[in-house]
Amino acid sequence: MTDDPMAGLAHSEAHYFNSYNHHGIHEEMLKDEVRTRSYRDSIYQNGHLFKDKVVLDVGCGTSILSMFATLPKPSWPPPRAFLDSNAGAKHVIGVDMSTIIEKAKEIVEVNGMSDKITLLQGKMEEVVLPFPQVDIIISEWMGYFLLYESMLDTVLFARDKYLAPGGLIFPDKATIYMAGIEDGDYKEEKIGFWDNVWGFDYTPLKHTALTEPLVDTVEMKAVVTDPAPVFNIDLYTVKKEDLAFSSQFSLNVRRNDFVHAIIAWFDIEFTACHKPIKFSTGPHTKYTHWKQTVFYIHDVLTVETGEKIVGQLTNKPNEKNPRDLDIAISYKLETEDPHRVASGAGHYKM
Ligand code: SAH
Repeated sequence: MTDDPMAGLAHSEAHYFNSYNHHGIHEEMLKDEVRTRSYRDSIYQNGHLFKDKVVLDVGCGTSILSMFATLPKPSWPPPRAFLDSNAGAKHVIGVDMSTIIEKAKEIVEVNGMSDKITLLQGKMEEVVLPFPQVDIIISEWMGYFLLYESMLDTVLFARDKYLAPGGLIFPDKATIYMAGIEDGDYKEEKIGFWDNVWGFDYTPLKHTALTEPLVDTVEMKAVVTDPAPVFNIDLYTVKKEDLAFSSQFSLNVRRNDFVHAIIAWFDIEFTACHKPIKFSTGPHTKYTHWKQTVFYIHDVLTVETGEKIVGQLTNKPNEKNPRDLDIAISYKLETEDPHRVASGAGHYKM
């Protein structure tokens, strides 16, 4: 017998949860203004939905969302009266496997919310909740490229096991978008580099480099095509199996330019809100810690206004480590000019 909650976990699982032990990763998320403010607004602007409800915070981390749900009041520090006014949820249960939950307990305590928030350390899939059902699930589960780390599986598990009929999920919609970008300089620096390393042919590493999507901020001026939605998730109805998917895309070229990479990002919506709240992680809007995901393609496409890059995006969890993703992108430039016809396919791992 051991008290170590990580004992018995697969190495990759322990690695995943351990990465959330340190305060640094939580600092990054808490400082992500777009992310944290959207969650806060979705709760504070909808006190009527949270009042007297039982709320489950899936993967509560430092318990920020649990505390929002307890106190729907848009000011900080909260006036003492509010702490006592029962303005928020009847009770919030926060669950996290990571040891950060020990600090979350202290944070809840020093903010005077211990009677309203119950924090449990353990895997969502294994813990025993003090309530058989919850009225609302809140969770910040999104990874790079939306689905990296596959924490959504855990939210779906909690939904199916605990959400009362007619219960709400915050957020409840997610959409992945794609677009083509001009990125000659950086592609040369990251990919072309391997063609000649101190006079040697390093192309075996070039192929490896090409399979690795880059998480980075893309400037809006690099975007050459219109964005196109490629995958939609409705959290009320989606099933785990649906997260392995294949979708067609068609990217409308906006200007004469070159295309070196396809990028992806996602938007998130809280549609249960009185006034819908959404945020985007795209290149056209404010920075988030998710940045964008860049998939370099093998060719350089020479594109003209009005042409289309069509293709298919396929995503599935890796068989060995289901928190990783195997992604394939095939593409074809639709052009009347036979000299610029190009097509190909890339396989990526993240
Ligand atoms: N809700 C917090 C933290 C989000 S990060 C915030 O918004 O700041 C996601 C958290 O979910 C991490 O702390 C991670 O440890 C936890 N988590 C992921 N999968 C889990 C699972 N299956 N069981 C319990 N906790 C999980």
